[in-house]
Amino acid sequence: MGGGGTGDAAAFALRKQGFDGLITLISSDRDRPYDRPYLSKEFLRGEVDLPKVFLHEEADYAKQGIELQLNRKVTGGSIQGGKLAVDGGGEVEFDSLVLGLGGTPRRLHDAPRAENVLLLRSLRDSKALRQALERTSRLLVIGAGFIGAEVAASARQLGKEVLMIEAAAVPLSRALSAEVGEIYATIHRSRGVDLRTATTVQNWHSDGNRVVGVTLSDGRREEADLVLEAVGIEPNLDVPKALGLTIEGGGVRVDEALRAAEGVYCGGDIAFHAHPVLGRSIRVEHWEVAKNQGRGIAANIAGGDKPYAKLPYFWSDQYDVNMEYRGNASGDDRAVWRGDRDGLAFSVFYLRDGLIDAVLSMNDSKTNEVGGKLIERRRPVSESALGNMSVDLAELVPAAAS
Ligand SMILES: Cc1cc2nc3c(=O)[nH]c(=O)nc-3n(C[C@H](O)[C@H](O)[C@H](O)COP(=O)(O)OP(=O)(O)OC[C@H]3O[C@@H](n4cnc5c(N)ncnc54)[C@H](O)[C@@H]3O)c2cc1C
Repeated sequence: MGGGGTGDAAAFALRKQGFDGLITLISSDRDRPYDRPYLSKEFLRGEVDLPKVFLHEEADYAKQGIELQLNRKVTGGSIQGGKLAVDGGGEVEFDSLVLGLGGTPRRLHDAPRAENVLLLRSLRDSKALRQALERTSRLLVIGAGFIGAEVAASARQLGKEVLMIEAAAVPLSRALSAEVGEIYATIHRSRGVDLRTATTVQNWHSDGNRVVGVTLSDGRREEADLVLEAVGIEPNLDVPKALGLTIEGGGVRVDEALRAAEGVYCGGDIAFHAHPVLGRSIRVEHWEVAKNQGRGIAANIAGGDKPYAKLPYFWSDQYDVNMEYRGNASGDDRAVWRGDRDGLAFSVFYLRDGLIDAVLSMNDSKTNEVGGKLIERRRPVSESALGNMSVDLAELVPAAAS
């Protein structure tokens, strides 16, 4: 259930695995499943049209025997009874249940519900933002996380003036470390974004149903024509709570096999997963993780539960800068840098107790891929070798494996 990254991947992978039972994909979205990452980048900029944004053609669902129920919201149900309750009455029966419910954009408590203050999560949101951007020359972005930063980059690429404010002293520092966040701050400023950190909105100024300006915590008043609130998401946990599943780590606790209860699996933004390689539970809000977990769940439903061991992987494209990240750093890791930091072609390895937990790469895909293999080996790797450009990291992989 949930027509996003997890749900769509699980449904199609089940058929690929030879599952021949009924598959019902229920989604509260009006649109059939689509590629969410396009919504802040290529689709928003008008470089990719609708047909490419959808994950499958409409006819593919019928061809694969997947019953797609759009615009339908699940409200609760009973795991023991094998039934889900759906908004407006009605029930859906199940033997196995997959929950991939994603999240809902957070709102600032004092932000007015005005027609020019937008959020970005769905295809509908992205269409509205795309249209609004056509009519404006200036965008105010609140929050310099991935969504805010990617939209800011897209808007600059469309020739718009962009003011982006961020409450933290350094953007993306919690997700990527302060040093990498500083690099992103420099990238945005050098591309013409007016980025103000350690800054919040103090007062909103409205005219009828439109926001016309804000007063910031630095005391300055800024005119606003179009505002994007991009301050993160709240995972959608109402249904898991109603089903009595265990809530932990900001999501639903699932075991190594992504199982929340007998016959019930969770993936994507809502899953707090006991990762068998990293040896701790993690919740990751990224696209490839959702899709791969969906496929892992399908394999478990079709073939019996096995630990899901794929490393988390995500990327972000901003301007001509590609960032990739494998693994999951815990915050207290040692950082080892490799490559050309100023030339924006580098990788950073994050180590804990001598083991690599994560590798972040900017315009350095090859190192990121090898780094993933080094993480999976779970063997100590020499820090000096990691940082030394004359060492071929691929040669360290077999040693780490022995
Ligand atoms: C604009 C944007 C750009 C992004 N770019 C990137 C990127 O570049 N790289 C990256 O790694 N990640 C990116 N992400 C994050 C990524 O898209 C998410 O992590 C991913 O979509 C999560 O998948 P999911 O299956 O958990 O949830 P979703 O894809 O959000 O799907 C959840 C589905 O569940 C449905 N649903 C929710 N509640 C109910 C209910 N009660 N009943 C029925 N249906 C329900 C929703 O309608 C939706 O269809 C981006 C996200 C956004 C919004």
